[in-house]
Amino acid sequence: MKIEKKLIDPAQVRRQEELCLEAAALLRERTERPLALVDTYGCQQNEADSEKLRGFLAEMGCAFTEDEFAADIIVVNTCAVREHAEMRVLGNVGALNHTKKAKPSQIIALCGCMVQQPHMAQKVKASYPVVDLVFGPHELWRFPELLLRVLTGHKRVFATEQSDGVLAEGLPSVRDGKVKAWLSIMYGCNNFCSYCVVPYVRGRERSRRPEDVVREAEALVAAGYKDITLLGQNVNSYGKDLDCGVNFAQLIRRINDIPGDFLIRFMTSHPKDATEELFQTMAACEKCAHQLHLPVQAGNDRILKVMNRNYTAAQYLEKVALARRYMPDLVLTTDIIVGFPGETEEEFEDTIRLCEAVRYDAMFTFIYSKRVGTPAASMPDPYTRADKQRHFDRLTEVSNRISAEKHREYEGRTLRVLVDGETGRTPYNLSSRTNGGRLVHLQGEPALIGQFVRVKITGGNTWALYGEAL
Ligand code: SAH
Ligand code: SF4
Repeated sequence: MKIEKKLIDPAQVRRQEELCLEAAALLRERTERPLALVDTYGCQQNEADSEKLRGFLAEMGCAFTEDEFAADIIVVNTCAVREHAEMRVLGNVGALNHTKKAKPSQIIALCGCMVQQPHMAQKVKASYPVVDLVFGPHELWRFPELLLRVLTGHKRVFATEQSDGVLAEGLPSVRDGKVKAWLSIMYGCNNFCSYCVVPYVRGRERSRRPEDVVREAEALVAAGYKDITLLGQNVNSYGKDLDCGVNFAQLIRRINDIPGDFLIRFMTSHPKDATEELFQTMAACEKCAHQLHLPVQAGNDRILKVMNRNYTAAQYLEKVALARRYMPDLVLTTDIIVGFPGETEEEFEDTIRLCEAVRYDAMFTFIYSKRVGTPAASMPDPYTRADKQRHFDRLTEVSNRISAEKHREYEGRTLRVLVDGETGRTPYNLSSRTNGGRLVHLQGEPALIGQFVRVKITGGNTWALYGEAL
């Protein structure tokens, strides 16, 4: 298997666990009960990575806190997809000057996509002396070794070498919940959409071996998880870098074969690689949710071409129609970028037309954000921020209206939902999800958390449905 070349030697991974014990001893010299805080920005992949960071920290004897002043170690897991996320990270890291002043032994680490960009690593080095440790996504598997260097060396450590990426199996993990779990099946991206920084910071596509994915899914089911989301930047190209003949649809079938009552979700699907075999498989596998996040990004063919998306609006609409033929109850969501460099009024109208034609259950809309080093960053961009904001507001209105209309169509229906937590509000004190992933607020006993229950939907708005447990 070609992937073996990228796989970190298991002995090296085990070595990290030994280093956790060394770090634990050093931390105990500083305080009886070390506390750690992991702050996560960005996508679900980052959430999954943060669970691994917490896994390592737990092996170092840390308990967890949300209090920045109480924490002995703060790890900020950053995002680089849009400037807004970077600004938030930098603002919050600036504020950590106060916590470190109050507790000079505090260790502050920055990791993730933002700091994998050389200009950002440089900026942190020059302007944020409060940060002790910086490491990119490719170095996460050796976090214990890097932290130990800080604990023993009193020097700032920067580990952000450019790389195509590696794959590490067997890292510890402390998961956030008990009902829903993230399961990374692949890392990186080969698509190089012209606006996107992800391929530069996360490296090339690397698929985990199917047996490793299935083993982890079995462990999740055995531990009682009921909702498993398979993660990758483009799950539809799963397996293309392996030579074991298992593609994404076949991987779903293998996970569907695991005994137990649970749901399989996945994200994200690139439309160019979403196949009829995938839709057939989703329809045939009783555990696979009829939910598809299929980012279209734009509804105009010229824009799609300069975005390097490799499909036209018509081809996208055909895929949607095909998916709905297999799954008439499919819940469909999307991502859209407004104000891509040079997008005209008329081109933006094509996006509105496409959204009205598809009628998404929900849309995630973003104003284009210029990313250093991407091809779009050097494209002429004559439109003002105000033009883009106007388009964004219009699209949001369309999206909110359609979501509300679609949610109202649920009224009076009886559905199976998975109760996943408490809302902290009354009277709808529980939150749950439909098979298609729509949020349902319920009234009921907290003992229902983690169970599939039947509910009657009594109402709905743009953001959620409301129901009664039967
Ligand atoms: N791999 C996933 C998404 C990764 S980023 C996919 O291809 O669908 C999540 C979303 O952020 C993207 O779908 C896109 O809509 C948005 N995005 C990415 N780069 C952006 C940029 N430079 N400006 C604004 N939005 C962006
Ligand atoms: Fe970015 Fe495109 Fe890859 Fe998604 S598919 S991560 S948008 S380059």
